[in-house]
Amino acid sequence: MRTIGLIGGMSWESTAEYYRLLNELTKERLGGLHSAKCVLYSVDFAEIERLQTAGRWDEAGEVLAGAARSLAAAGAELLLICTNTMHKVADRVAAAVDVPLLHLADTTAGAVRGAGLRRIGLLGTAFTMEQDFYRGRLAGHGLEVLVPDAAGRAEVHRVIYEELCLGVVREESRAAYRAVIADLVARGAEGVVLGCTEIELLVGPEDSQVPVFPTTRLHAEAAVAAALA
Ligand code: GLU
Repeated sequence: MRTIGLIGGMSWESTAEYYRLLNELTKERLGGLHSAKCVLYSVDFAEIERLQTAGRWDEAGEVLAGAARSLAAAGAELLLICTNTMHKVADRVAAAVDVPLLHLADTTAGAVRGAGLRRIGLLGTAFTMEQDFYRGRLAGHGLEVLVPDAAGRAEVHRVIYEELCLGVVREESRAAYRAVIADLVARGAEGVVLGCTEIELLVGPEDSQVPVFPTTRLHAEAAVAAALA
């Protein structure tokens, strides 16, 4: 079993899910008392969020590159950045170490293609929905990506930072997400990527008329498969 290195804490609410899923999936595969070999570097998300909002991505990238170096030194043989948004600096993180990085957009696109779908809706932070680093990577896998309208994007983003990253799950926000998903489906989405690692704490298959792709679970599944290959 290879040791999985997690760059987490963005937010810790979803990193806790990663930890649970990695262990559950390893136990499912190997049985008994087996659990995932992993090391976690958990950042202070307030510092990262400040850099994101200020557009200081180079500095945020350096923080995560430093985390990657620490994880490599601690024995990680496979790296995960436990947030979709911070894949904006994935190249910098990957360049900092010799350890392979399992890119979240690649595992997500693989799952969508595996389900035979091509046109998908994308929910995530404004950075993820509006910038090219994530949408472009999905498009590179042959996917057509739809995002919510401006009001929908603002609400999806607000709920992530003001609620989900603080551990708050509200029924009103679930209803708002359902409406955004329904709109994407009406515009032709064949599936919906839950492209922020906290979103699956709020909505699931029961909130959508089309298949949903929960990125935390998909990333954890891919990591366990790679660790046990
Ligand atoms: N966990 C979130 C994501 O997957 C948002 C937090 C962040 O900005 O890193 O994008």
